[in-house]
Amino acid sequence: MNIVILGGGAAGATAAQFARKEDRKAEITVFEASEYPQYSRCGLPYALSGAIPEFESLIEFSAEWFKRNKIDLRLSTEVSKVEPDTNTISFSGLDGDGKLQYDSLIFATGARPSIPGIKGIAEGDAKKKGVFVFRGMDDAKALSEWCGEKNRKAVIVGAGLVGLEVAEALHIMGHEVAVVEFLDSILPGMIDPDTAAPLLEKMSSLGISARTRALVEEILGDGSVAEAVVKDRDTGTEERIEYDTVIQENGQKPSTSLAKDAGCALGRHGHIRVDERCESSVPGIYAVGDCAEYVDFVTGAESPSGMGTTAVKMGEVAGINAAGGSFALPRGFLNSRVSRLFGLEISAVGPISSSLTEAGIAQVQARVKGSTLPVYYPGGKDIMVKLTASKEDGKLLACQIVGEEGAGLRVNLAAAMILAGFTARDLALFETTYAPPVAPTVDVLATAAEAIMIKLRRSGKSG
Ligand SMILES: Cc1cc2nc3c(=O)[nH]c(=O)nc-3n(C[C@H](O)[C@H](O)[C@H](O)COP(=O)(O)OP(=O)(O)OC[C@H]3O[C@@H](n4cnc5c(N)ncnc54)[C@H](O)[C@@H]3O)c2cc1C
Repeated sequence: MNIVILGGGAAGATAAQFARKEDRKAEITVFEASEYPQYSRCGLPYALSGAIPEFESLIEFSAEWFKRNKIDLRLSTEVSKVEPDTNTISFSGLDGDGKLQYDSLIFATGARPSIPGIKGIAEGDAKKKGVFVFRGMDDAKALSEWCGEKNRKAVIVGAGLVGLEVAEALHIMGHEVAVVEFLDSILPGMIDPDTAAPLLEKMSSLGISARTRALVEEILGDGSVAEAVVKDRDTGTEERIEYDTVIQENGQKPSTSLAKDAGCALGRHGHIRVDERCESSVPGIYAVGDCAEYVDFVTGAESPSGMGTTAVKMGEVAGINAAGGSFALPRGFLNSRVSRLFGLEISAVGPISSSLTEAGIAQVQARVKGSTLPVYYPGGKDIMVKLTASKEDGKLLACQIVGEEGAGLRVNLAAAMILAGFTARDLALFETTYAPPVAPTVDVLATAAEAIMIKLRRSGKSG
């Protein structure tokens, strides 16, 4: 059995790991275009800020690990063609060019930054000095070096998860940071605007400007960034602001041109479509991680895998199946997500409200504030929960939580309940642990579920 994996990131390396566990004798080859064995992209902002002392400590599956597991890792080697008619791939790299036959193949080619052309960001083919993206090890090292030279004044274009994690890192390092977001709110794909409000307040209290419904229209400066023209989308007002650093964080584009040429069906935004076995429309070809999409558990809509969590789950499933085993993803992605930004833990599971509305799902929501400990016990932290359930049958659909602590683990509980098809009533009656120094008698999640039950009862439905 010959298994070929394109891409040695989180998804590809996990696929190799599980293929090896499934078949101790299979020939497994991983092609990786960069010089790095698998490392945690998620850790890059923390290596930038200094919380993780060395960039190299982010490596999780080392070259030695691949050797020990008898997996042929070809670094600095790019696959240029996949021919399903003959089950052959073509590659070129450090050790020259070649072809290799496969029995099963896994696309784990990831994504690359989506860079909209801002006027003045480049001169000829070269980016101006001070312009960065932040996806890989080399991007992070380059930004780290630039910021080590002197105090910077940076604008981050795009207030998604990565944009804000980089903003926090630069703030910790003592640089001046501003964020500009085209959409209505920060973390627009992750949480609703009302859940984002406490984070915006926190950023403002720390002196970090965050403009929403705005765009960076032009970069000024001769060879290097000197100023940015920021436009307010509502008023049309333009402001010239001094910056010497621009970080483009406008999202990612999947790397799927080889898959497209190989005949794999792609989704609306160019990701490779897969079934619950992570198999593409071409039999024997699987796809995992940021290059792939599956379906959303709640809405059934296309759901690109844009996170480490889903990349690793897909890697496990595809690795087992590519090696002749049998394993399947759940009915859809829940997209459980979390971060800690500027001292606040922010977590979410399930679609944001606008996606539920787009899918035609009638929803009932409750937003409640509570504490992580009983009110009488010192040290409790404020925590805010926004819970969403179906207006039809009270089934839990989504949950978003913000607080100094306890948001990440609570959302995992909500995720399990959504997966199990539990209702607001089930959650309200769920027995959570209680002891004064650990947890309150009624958890804030249950309080939110009770609030939903009241709303449902008022509209003549039962929770
Ligand atoms: C800064 C940052 C922070 C993040 N934080 C989180 C987080 O906290 N939690 C979370 O869940 N997710 C997070 N993510 C997302 C997560 O890191 C990604 O979803 C995950 O790394 C995707 O893994 P992947 O293997 O699919 O893709 P990648 O890691 O992009 O790997 C794809 C690999 O394929 C290689 N490749 C591409 N084409 C070829 C070819 N033709 N031949 C050979 N090799 C090829 C590339 O060189 C690349 O190394 C973060 C991402 C970033 C950038």
